[in-house]
Amino acid sequence: MKIAIPRAGLYYYYHAFWNAFFEALGFEVVISDPTDRRILNLGLKHSHSEMCLPMKIFYGHVLSLQGLADYILIPQFEEFAYSSDKDKREYFCPYFVAMPDMFAAEYPQLKILRPVIKFLDGKMVAEPWLELAEQLGKNKQQAKAAYDAASQVQEEAPNIFEKFKDNGKAVIAVIGRPYLLYDEQANLELLKKIRARGYEIKTVDDFSDEGIERGFGELHKCYHYHWRLTNREYGAIIAASHDPHVKGIIYATPFNCGPDFLMENFSIRLARRNKPVISISFDESSGEAGLLTRLDAFFDMLK
Ligand code: SF4
Repeated sequence: MKIAIPRAGLYYYYHAFWNAFFEALGFEVVISDPTDRRILNLGLKHSHSEMCLPMKIFYGHVLSLQGLADYILIPQFEEFAYSSDKDKREYFCPYFVAMPDMFAAEYPQLKILRPVIKFLDGKMVAEPWLELAEQLGKNKQQAKAAYDAASQVQEEAPNIFEKFKDNGKAVIAVIGRPYLLYDEQANLELLKKIRARGYEIKTVDDFSDEGIERGFGELHKCYHYHWRLTNREYGAIIAASHDPHVKGIIYATPFNCGPDFLMENFSIRLARRNKPVISISFDESSGEAGLLTRLDAFFDMLK
């Protein structure tokens, strides 16, 4: 049996677990190609105009996998809890909650696997995965063994993006969603363009959880709110603004992102007290020339 995984959305954080889980159950895994013009166009054609760019790209990946596997994995991301402490609960964007329902309603012919993904104390909760394995015809022992193996692989998985290495070069912190930062088609090769100017890069994933928490703690209490990825970005921006290696900060945001839109000014305003910060938004009509102009102006300012 073949299971397809879209290379989009939170694939960038959890692909190691998903891949290992299905392989441990004895299934073949098919992953969609890196985003290219074909996948982007497919997404633009079939998604909804008010959606953010990453969601349009997600559509393209799912539809590019039609006919290539028996099932397509579209997990439903629910909550991310640091601990059993109810005050520290965080949630994923409503699109990640609604995605399996959206695809099931619009494409009833798709056979979707839709485990509800939750976290407790930083670990993916087992039950939905055990149920999924049983739904696919495996027994309890096989399900548990696959979950354990996948959890181990996830724990040891290297970052999808090459980790920051301190090689003495000036550093630019690039803060943004994983599905924007690590998708070159979506971000118009932003990271390559920065490196080509001689800078090293730290992304949101190069800052420690403690540093992000500390940074987040500097925001006024009323700005704390419950989006998991947004909270990490705001904590990372503040952490970057205190990092003596960081020369400037680029905040990359998908145009039309609801969670980002509400908080952007608060943390950027605070970070600007310490470092130059530029905010660049991306959508399907963002062009190479516009991006280069913004970057040139920013790097001139850093000189
Ligand atoms: S968090 Fe923002 S960019 Fe991500 S899926 Fe939701 S609206 Fe889109």
